Amino acid sequence: MTPSIRASSIKPSPTLSLDSKAKALKAGGVDVVNFGAGEPDFDTPDNIKEAAIKAINDGFTKYTPVGGTDELKTSVIEKFKQDNNLEYEKNEIIVSCGAKHSLYNIAGALFNPGDEIIIPAPYWVSYPDQALLHDAVPVIAETDESNSFRITPQTLESCLSDKTKALILNSPSNPTGLAYDQNSLEEIAELAIKHDFYIISDEIYEKIVYDGFRHSSIASLGKDIKERTIVVNGLSKSHAMTGWRIGFAAGPKEIVGAMTKIQSQSTSNPTSIAQKAAVEALTGTQDFIPLMVSEFDKRRLYIIERLNKIEGITCSKPLGAFYVFPNISSFFGKKFKGKPLTSSFDLSSYLLDEAQVAAVPGGAFGDDKYIRLSYATSMAVIQKGLDRIESALAELQQ
Ligand SMILES: *Cc1c(COP(=O)(O)O)cnc(C)c1O
Repeated sequence: MTPSIRASSIKPSPTLSLDSKAKALKAGGVDVVNFGAGEPDFDTPDNIKEAAIKAINDGFTKYTPVGGTDELKTSVIEKFKQDNNLEYEKNEIIVSCGAKHSLYNIAGALFNPGDEIIIPAPYWVSYPDQALLHDAVPVIAETDESNSFRITPQTLESCLSDKTKALILNSPSNPTGLAYDQNSLEEIAELAIKHDFYIISDEIYEKIVYDGFRHSSIASLGKDIKERTIVVNGLSKSHAMTGWRIGFAAGPKEIVGAMTKIQSQSTSNPTSIAQKAAVEALTGTQDFIPLMVSEFDKRRLYIIERLNKIEGITCSKPLGAFYVFPNISSFFGKKFKGKPLTSSFDLSSYLLDEAQVAAVPGGAFGDDKYIRLSYATSMAVIQKGLDRIESALAELQQ
């Protein structure tokens, strides 16, 4: 059997495969420190779990409308109004099996073969591959750490062509923690309107922000930009619900309608029980979120301080999400047992094999000078992991 050309054009999610490699080592008895996690280490809050248990006991276990129940869409509409000052109708909302699934449906609904999709690097691993799966062309836009990895209007303009269909914006960003301020968003919105392309705005880390940062959705900047933006969000990160698979999107009804049609021919509705849990997550108490974020914040400050003390590493301070993205390129060319490390992949393998520390190579996100460490793990584990990284890097030879 030969898999399709399309399937052969992509790779498995590198973050998910690193995470499973680390988990397998751990299950085999190896004491691995896993900085690979792409999910909060907190348990889903009890009120949300109870809503799901009630749904089961009430027999809410059948098919629902494809794009989500009316009850859940109403809660999602309310969320956009409250948090983002955005007004939507039900036919402009779709609930999917995770934000990743919403993004995949957007690709199916929007991308034609040959369409160019601008993706600022470092990017979340699935954006380019989802474009490739729809025969669209990822156009990777370079950014600069000195500008917090923001795409500048100049770079954006230099990426435009008559084939440009959309820009994928991720703020706060995985992997860099970059969060766009309103001014930068306005500059991007202006270009989108002037040059007539769509914005796909992945705002899944909206609630996980620090230092008093206030998230704005680019769609909220005016009617013209709202009409060409599809906002993606979900509960995986904000409510520690990665396994429940609930994400959603809001945008022009023609696109959301096409997404719903695609979803009707693939997964149908997201799990009925998870939808009930999602209503509780959106409408019930939100007390859990600031507690989680303040714990993340302590770890963020600690990990940045420690990393910057390690000779050869520099690490800027992320404003959102739960990752740090240290620059490790000064170690390229250094040797272990006579063999030089030449890439972020080499460095990550070295850390995993010799120090039992799992970190995702920056190359997987489109920038090889970095590695990504998730601090969605306990302070004790973070301390141990940083001790190990520090001594493993000190052992490398010139
Ligand atoms: C985690 C993540 C998602 C996907 O989340 P789901 O679990 O599919 O809802 C989407 N975008 C980014 C940037 C993420 O980090």
